[in-house]
Amino acid sequence: MTVSLDDLPLRDDLRGQQPYGAPQAPLPVALNVNENTHPIPDEVADDIADSVALALRDVNRYPDREFTALREGFAEYLGHGLEPEQIWAANGSNEVLQHLLQAFAGPGRTAFGFAPTYSMYTLLTRGVGATFVSGERGANFSLTPESAAAQVAEARPDVVFLCAPNNPTGTPLENDVVEAVYDATDGIVIVDEAYREFAPRDVPSALQLLPGRPRLVVSRTMSKAFAFAGARVGYLAADPAVVDALRLVRLPYHLSALTQAAASAALRHADTMLAMVDEIVEQRDRISATLEALGYTVYPTWSNFVLFGGVEDPHATWQALYDRGVLIRDIGIPGHLRVTAGTEDETSAFLGALAEIGR
Ligand SMILES: *Cc1c(COP(=O)(O)O)cnc(C)c1O
Repeated sequence: MTVSLDDLPLRDDLRGQQPYGAPQAPLPVALNVNENTHPIPDEVADDIADSVALALRDVNRYPDREFTALREGFAEYLGHGLEPEQIWAANGSNEVLQHLLQAFAGPGRTAFGFAPTYSMYTLLTRGVGATFVSGERGANFSLTPESAAAQVAEARPDVVFLCAPNNPTGTPLENDVVEAVYDATDGIVIVDEAYREFAPRDVPSALQLLPGRPRLVVSRTMSKAFAFAGARVGYLAADPAVVDALRLVRLPYHLSALTQAAASAALRHADTMLAMVDEIVEQRDRISATLEALGYTVYPTWSNFVLFGGVEDPHATWQALYDRGVLIRDIGIPGHLRVTAGTEDETSAFLGALAEIGR
């Protein structure tokens, strides 16, 4: 007899829910989950391997619970005068966000985000027994300071997610929105800058707003620009008191010695690791221009992906691309699909296949 979830004493609030499920398929051109598709350069991979090998010698002992060296590395990488005690890290920024929700949301509390946005905000919120409330965006998925602040003031959430730029739409979100939302709530405001490195360099990060705003949190990840998705490393910057709160909920020794060693080594090569960013941005802009020429609706993007509309049957187009060895993402917005900017060859494969399929 096969057992189903219905046969288990599952939490009532989890019954009927779906897990995160971006399809993983071994296709030659995978442009579906916004990874950096450029492999890590050999000399960096060698240095990381040496560091991990060294850490392995001490793996009989628990790791540094405070991941001191790694926090110093992130503080230095982020700049903005940040100190290591303002840094937190975990196994992907998803775990960082989970820690924040465990500390500041929970049963009877609410988290808030502007839909459509990163689907994990809802799942993580539900996982801690809190309620997720969705706000609305304006034309082309944009958000004005006035509208954002008014919606947050009305919802009175305990935690607000601002995805800057937004996934899955790519929409820019600037600091005027962050300031307005911060002033409109007594809750924690999380600015998720997962794609920050792909935004124009002259636009300030929300890191600049941290001084004097103890409820503001800026989260980042090594999964996207840093080409480190498989290593699972995310981090944040905030007031040291916020970091103290996260110590109440994390598992002891949550960052393995091997992860700490690998991430610290990768950070030493930040310049090399990030060298591909300009190339990816170039391919992203090429995708936008080509899709527009093909007659699709293309949205402004400050990330490494492009959302496009005007797709008559998204699932059919997704499948036709799949059958040609190209994996992109149907993110559930009617008439729309999302594609990650890959290498020049991968991007050409996608654009060629799409032109062949037609609208
Ligand atoms: C990819 C992504 C993340 C990063 O997830 P990791 O757990 O660090 O791999 C966080 N936020 C958004 C909006 C993302 O798209």
